[in-house]
Amino acid sequence: MRTPLVMGNWKLNGTKESVSTLIKGLEAASDAATNVEVAVCPPAIFIEQVATLTENNSIEFGAQDVSTNVEGAYTGETSPVMVKEFGAKYSLVGHSERRQYHNETDAVVAAKFVAIQAHGLVPVLCIGETLEERETNVTTTVVETQLKAVIDLAGIEALENCVIAYEPVWAIGTGKVATSEQAQEVHAHIRNWLKAQSEVVAEKVQILYGGSVKAASAKELFAQPDIDGGLVGGAALIIEEFVGIIEGAK
Ligand code: 13P
Repeated sequence: MRTPLVMGNWKLNGTKESVSTLIKGLEAASDAATNVEVAVCPPAIFIEQVATLTENNSIEFGAQDVSTNVEGAYTGETSPVMVKEFGAKYSLVGHSERRQYHNETDAVVAAKFVAIQAHGLVPVLCIGETLEERETNVTTTVVETQLKAVIDLAGIEALENCVIAYEPVWAIGTGKVATSEQAQEVHAHIRNWLKAQSEVVAEKVQILYGGSVKAASAKELFAQPDIDGGLVGGAALIIEEFVGIIEGAK
């Protein structure tokens, strides 16, 4: 059985005060949900604060993005080694906002995936189709291509130690959550496609759903056999919502 994982992606949000309030508001729910892994991905500048605030509770944390480089003349970047030094467990990679606003290609995403693993972090590989791609029935080709870029570089075994987040771009920040049937259909496709390459990977890898997840929709989404939790944006910034989503994964 795969343990469900509920992960908050805070994106470009937060103040020192709100970070503190949010973590303190989440710790009891996280500690009580012994069968659910709970994690947050703050902006890099808040990682140290989150590290301190999560020292004595079960909340894990990760970066939203890291460089492929460890150190050197790369202005503005954050190294996976730095993130690891502060005790992070995860780094997101390939989020659609990085692909869209920072021109991250499948090749860049694959290189980052390898760098994240090489420095002891668990990559959370984000994949998903745009509305146009869904409407032209190429959803499965899109997610296969995105996965294949990583597998070609890292090898299929590398996916044993990662998390996959299926995030249909049309559902992110739009309030348009995929129905549990729509999400399950793609999740099952991803798992079966992986199974043809490695049964171990397919059984082990957590596949999260992301895109307008709310407390009200979480339970039904997470009840689907191939949905192993959620990657949550907007609702992860509201304590009651995020606690409700954690409850939905129990
Ligand atoms: P929303 O939950 O705000 O739609 O964002 C989803 C997301 O992009 C998480 O990475």
